[in-house]
Amino acid sequence: MSLLELRDVHVRYGAIAALRGVDVTVESGEIVTLLGANGAGKTTTLRTISGLLHPHTGQIFFDGRRIDTLPPHDIVGLGISHVPEGRRVFPRMTVTENLAMGAYRLGRPRKSDFDRVFALFPRLAERRHQDAGTLSGGEQQMLAIGRGLMSHPQLLLLDEPSMGLAPLLVEQIFDIIKEINEQGTTILVVEQNAAQALALADRGYVLETGTIVLSGPAPELRIDPRVKAAYLGEG
Ligand code: ATP
Repeated sequence: MSLLELRDVHVRYGAIAALRGVDVTVESGEIVTLLGANGAGKTTTLRTISGLLHPHTGQIFFDGRRIDTLPPHDIVGLGISHVPEGRRVFPRMTVTENLAMGAYRLGRPRKSDFDRVFALFPRLAERRHQDAGTLSGGEQQMLAIGRGLMSHPQLLLLDEPSMGLAPLLVEQIFDIIKEINEQGTTILVVEQNAAQALALADRGYVLETGTIVLSGPAPELRIDPRVKAAYLGEG
């Protein structure tokens, strides 16, 4: 049984069909990447998994349970954590307070959870009393990921973690995503940065105008002529 399974998921915004029959599976322990151009439906897919949107038709299963009718807080409770595009940290709260918000479903945040996040992101440890709004873009991304980890997710959904970051920082963030995965968290990551996402992931899916047009092991997608031409700027 797959950890996550989307079966023929259709999502509409009014008259606009954003997802038109999406099938995606994620196995426990994997890093899976969802690639696609602007407007392909990547963010919509993540928002539908985390319960912020509901499918018009189709089903989503997590750990054998149907989740597509549940509200977002129940889905967090089952072990899915969503790190949204654009970070969305609480600017007037400190780093520590932002992290504590990620643990709200557990009641009081545990020291061991803070310790884990600060070990992954030493920069956040140094800035723990600083307001999140004054952090750099890269630090805010670290904080958003750290906050996502505070609820002990089995599955972490990451929406464009590399967006707007300098190349060196992108590399650092991707190394940390790998480390989080090695510590036992399954990851579904949406990326525009196809080359780096495919270097990180085990498998990938390519979304075009709301439909999956290609999927396979990441090393195969990296050499696929269609991926090279459309997403890797080669060929
Ligand atoms: P990007 O990389 O630009 O974020 P994306 O692949 O994440 O793109 P989505 O944000 O999922 O794409 O959008 C998919 C489609 O749904 C687009 O055509 C978009 O214009 C449309 N869409 C997204 N949100 C809404 C909304 N709230 N109301 C109407 N249409 C929407």
